[in-house]
Amino acid sequence: MSWYDYSDAAEQKAKTQRDLEKRRKRGEKYEAFVAPEGRKLAVNFWGQAWCRHLETYCGYETRLPRGRSYLRAGHVYNLAVEQGVITAEVTGSSLYEVEVRIAPLKASVWAGIKQTCQGEVASLLDLLGGKLGDHVMQVVVDPKDGLFPGPREIRHQCTCPDAADLCKHQAAVLYAVGVLFDRDPRFFFELRGVDPSELIASSAAVL
Ligand SMILES: [Zn+2]
Repeated sequence: MSWYDYSDAAEQKAKTQRDLEKRRKRGEKYEAFVAPEGRKLAVNFWGQAWCRHLETYCGYETRLPRGRSYLRAGHVYNLAVEQGVITAEVTGSSLYEVEVRIAPLKASVWAGIKQTCQGEVASLLDLLGGKLGDHVMQVVVDPKDGLFPGPREIRHQCTCPDAADLCKHQAAVLYAVGVLFDRDPRFFFELRGVDPSELIASSAAVL
């Protein structure tokens, strides 16, 4: 791969690791986000749906594979997900800060999802485990009225000099988030600012 010379990459990684060690000695915390070793980054519904969603965004295609490689190579640190915001630090030629802001899910969209899925989600365990009927799955992944943010609802920035709309550091973080959602989908609902149990409550309300 022309963009990625392995010896340069190894040298850069060593240099940045030395930089990280210095920062750690100064008391700064750097926690590596470890990606799964297998072929798939995500195996459960929410993680897979997040990654698939990213891959449908026009214009991201060229950067996403680099992001995946970066994540797998252990470049993502201090991943944090809160309501509407994802932050992380990514190592490369230097240490870069990535921030992704996601607009809150519109109340009308959430209300629509709850109404459409009434009575179809048996439990929070099923919801988080992605054990959903085909109809509910279709509703939540709908590009317009589903739970996943559209491209215009995502604002991302990185402190690296790459002028591309989505640099490899941001792409790596977006994939790391997919892995996080795969491990604990509650973070997905936290990011979108909605309480997943409301989907169950609205199910119960019609029983
Ligand atoms: Zn960057």
